[in-house]
Amino acid sequence: MICIWERSMRHLSAILVILMGLVLSAPLSYGASDDTKKEQKSEQADDSKPILLLQVGELLAVPGQAPLTQQTIVVEGDKIKAVHAGYQTPEDLDFPDARLIDLKDKFVMPGLMDLHVHLTMTKDHDSKADDMALVGVVNARKTLMAGYTTVRDIGAWGNTIFKLRKKVQAGEIDGPRIFAAGQIIGVGSKDGGLECNGPESCRRTTRDLIKAGADWIKIYSSCSGSQLCSNENGAPVFFADEIEAVTQVAAKYGVKVAAHSHPRNSALFVLKYGVSSIEHGSFMDDKALRAMKKQGTYFVPTVSVHDMLEKLKADGKVEGKMLAHNDAFLAQHPDTILRAYKMGVQIATGSDAGVVPHGKNYREIERFVALGIPAAQALKMATVNGADLLGRSDELGTLEQGKYADIIALDGNPLTQIENIEKVVFVMKSGKVFRRE
Ligand SMILES: [Zn+2]
Repeated sequence: MICIWERSMRHLSAILVILMGLVLSAPLSYGASDDTKKEQKSEQADDSKPILLLQVGELLAVPGQAPLTQQTIVVEGDKIKAVHAGYQTPEDLDFPDARLIDLKDKFVMPGLMDLHVHLTMTKDHDSKADDMALVGVVNARKTLMAGYTTVRDIGAWGNTIFKLRKKVQAGEIDGPRIFAAGQIIGVGSKDGGLECNGPESCRRTTRDLIKAGADWIKIYSSCSGSQLCSNENGAPVFFADEIEAVTQVAAKYGVKVAAHSHPRNSALFVLKYGVSSIEHGSFMDDKALRAMKKQGTYFVPTVSVHDMLEKLKADGKVEGKMLAHNDAFLAQHPDTILRAYKMGVQIATGSDAGVVPHGKNYREIERFVALGIPAAQALKMATVNGADLLGRSDELGTLEQGKYADIIALDGNPLTQIENIEKVVFVMKSGKVFRRE
């Protein structure tokens, strides 16, 4: 059932982008309210950036490490300038114009990251091209409001997602920081992917995608999860020279490759060519996991799709061979994830939102904890590890000096009760406040 719509929409021939003309609320910016002051000062200090002080009750500055109590985060412009112990005031820190934000009774942590979403897709879309742009706008906002300040969009139709990324970057649409693969590369129209048939075709397709704006490449290295050929013993989709062509072009442009893979052997096959992440990885064996650990390849299991598969089963909507296929997947996938975790394979969270609902990306973290992964580690996978997979650890993933001020506050501690991850009451991205309750 995974990515079922990705296939069902393969007939779509054109994407209309109608993002213009949408009335979108401007982000709440505490800096903006200082405009008058800024104007008055502009003659002396043109480069002065607004300063915000966040007084924080509990701070998980670096997920994976212990949280601290009673801290003050200094945000200057879009970055974190400093983190101080104790509740500091503008006077204490000699920033008389700084704006104070009281989060003394909140749990504060870095903005969450979802490394496997499809923002321009929803399960119930009407498969019209213009709909994709509209749902993209809606889903981008939903995702941000759920505390997700960064996503990797790992499969879309046409170039809508690149245009959405641009509008979000420009601050015209509220949404997370987007890294986007655009259309998935497969063996051709039959599997719903862009054509990669023979090395020359694969090279051309990969180059064209990167030129169109892809900052990631996603390949279908096995059948879609909604097809029986994605079973445990399913065959890898590409020939060696094809996948080599894709990964070589990507490497040439400094773009990473994510490989969709379900069967036991397809992961092992693509790992030979230097992919950066294995998506789903349902039936991977220890040999593949060992190779991933050795190469530092990330595993993005998208365990949230179990929500959908379990519901389909409960509703009696799958039967026959497909039911047996889904049961095998549901039985094996959790074990694969736990084995990977215990072996020390790097794991990042990715919900497959688009297949499952947008704005409930946190289900991936909750599912990890339900499997037995400690909450502290699950939160690290949704922040620190996400930044690492994106190659942006220098600016994302933790709340430390010099990083982007991507900060969320929760009404409860998720380390003691993981469901508190749903209680998002404050969202800041790049120093701008988008949500405050
Ligand atoms: Zn997907």
